Formats: sequence, structure tokens, C-alpha cells
Amino acid sequence: MDQVLEGKAALVTGAGRGIGRQIALTLAECGADVILNYRGSKEAAEETAERIRTFGREVLICPCDVSDSEAVKQMIESGTQRFGKIDILVNNAGITRDNLLMRMSEEEFDAVMDINLKGTFHCIRHIARQMVRQRSGRIINISSVSGVLGNAGQANYCASKAGVIGLTKSAAREFASRGITVNAVAPGFIDTEMTAVLSKEVQEDILNRIPMKQFGRVEDIAQTVAFLASDAARYITGQVISVDGGMAM
Ligand code: NAP
Repeated sequence: MDQVLEGKAALVTGAGRGIGRQIALTLAECGADVILNYRGSKEAAEETAERIRTFGREVLICPCDVSDSEAVKQMIESGTQRFGKIDILVNNAGITRDNLLMRMSEEEFDAVMDINLKGTFHCIRHIARQMVRQRSGRIINISSVSGVLGNAGQANYCASKAGVIGLTKSAAREFASRGITVNAVAPGFIDTEMTAVLSKEVQEDILNRIPMKQFGRVEDIAQTVAFLASDAARYITGQVISVDGGMAM
């Protein structure tokens, strides 16, 4: 793979497994050093870090809960200390707590908002100062097709992912003149542990709603993120790129 990100340092949240893991691997393959965040999956994070080192890249593992503002601040300080700067931030960490609206508890709503939306806010807020100072940066937020279209049984998740889109566009407007681009990627249904828990019937129903009639792969998302992080995307900001087999069009 072309070393288009050589000399760059990238922070990827929730990078031990799933989509985040593949994003971290692809950015490293493109030449970036990686600050690898995880919350609970220590073993998976260490295994991903080992893979990154095989590409000849450096990696700093940072366990932290992205919903904890102070912990995020410390993670960004450690990353900046280790690599001198952070060029790329990928806000990937996310959870679901699905339920029908009338049955959804306040705890289920808050847990999803705290990690998916507020976690993204904390990371952007704490990294912004140094990106503004260096007058360059790439911020890529992982939203979802569910945040674009809505989805029955996922009011909390859809609200958080629609919130990520609003946050992306506002941040893009605030930082555009400082050389920082902010974009969102909205994956459709991607083969990971998050979708593996869905029943066969739900998976069938989803497949029927995908024009391309197949789930996406983690590589589909990671390649889009790598493009947005590269110089080739220098004039793109405030956009939501759907990678969903045609679901949202
Ligand atoms: P996943 O397999 O369930 O992985 C979730 C990741 O988020 C894990 O690495 C997890 O880390 C991390 N995470 C969760 N809570 C965290 C917290 N408080 N602090 C730090 N990290 C945390 O999910 P995925 O499918 O890879 O999804 C990744 C992102 O893509 C999410 O934002 C998700 O909403 C979005 N997305 C996924 C799909 C899909 O079809 N899979 C579709 C649209 C959007 P630990 O294991 O270490 O806790």
C-alpha cells in the first residue's frame, strides 16, 4: 500500500477490535504511527498493536473510556508527548443498547449518548487546541446509516449518530480556516461483533433493504477513512460519506 500517511500520527478510538481495528491497521499500512485506544478488550488491543508493529510503525496503547473527559485529555496528552503531535483523529468507539422507544430506559439512552456522541465531543475538544496550533489536522467521525435514516428499536443509537453528523458539520465550519478538515463516514451494515448479535430474521430483513444485497466489510470503512485522512482529500470537509451498499440514497 502507498505510504501516503508517512510521518503522520493517528489516534483511533475503540481500535482493539471490529471496524476500529481495521482502521488502525489500514492507517498503519499507509505509513501512520498509531495511538490505539480501547476500553475493555486488552488482549485484542495488544494483538492489534503487534500487527501494527509488523508494518514497521510505532504504536502507543491507551486504555480509556471516551465518555470520561479527563481520561480523554490525558490520553491526548500522552499521544502528543510520544509522537510530538497528532495529525489524524478517528472517533470510532461506539455501542448499541437497542430497545423500542416505549421500553427504553433513561440509562439505555444515556449510555449510548455518553459514548457515541459525548465521547466524540470530548476527543475533538481536547485535540483541537494542538491541531489549531499546528494549523493542520484530519478528524473523521464514524456515524451510521441509522443516524441518516433512523431505525426502529434504535432511537438512542440513531439520535447519537445523527448528533455526530451535526457535530461534524459544526466542527468543520469552526476549523475550516485553520487547515483542519472534519468529515463523517456513515457505514451501513458491516460484518462485526456489533451486527453478529442480530437474529437471523433481522439480518435477512436488513439484507432485503440493501440495494447491493450484501453486508459491508471492515475494509470498506477503513479504506474510506484512509482516503479522508490523506492529502487527496484536502479540499473535502463537513461531508458525510455513506459506505452502505446503497442503503441511503
Ligand atoms: P464493535 O465490534 O462492537 O466494537 C466497538 C468498539 O468500540 C470496540 O473496540 C470497543 O472497545 C469500543 N468502545 C466501546 N465503548 C467504548 C468506550 N467507552 N471507550 C472506548 N472505546 C469503546 O463495533 P463495530 O461494529 O466495530 O463499530 C465501530 C463503530 O462503527 C461504532 O461507532 C459503530 O456505531 C459504528 N457502526 C458500525 C456498524 C456495523 O454495522 N458494524 C454500522 C454503522 C456504524 P472495547 O472492546 O475495548 O470496549
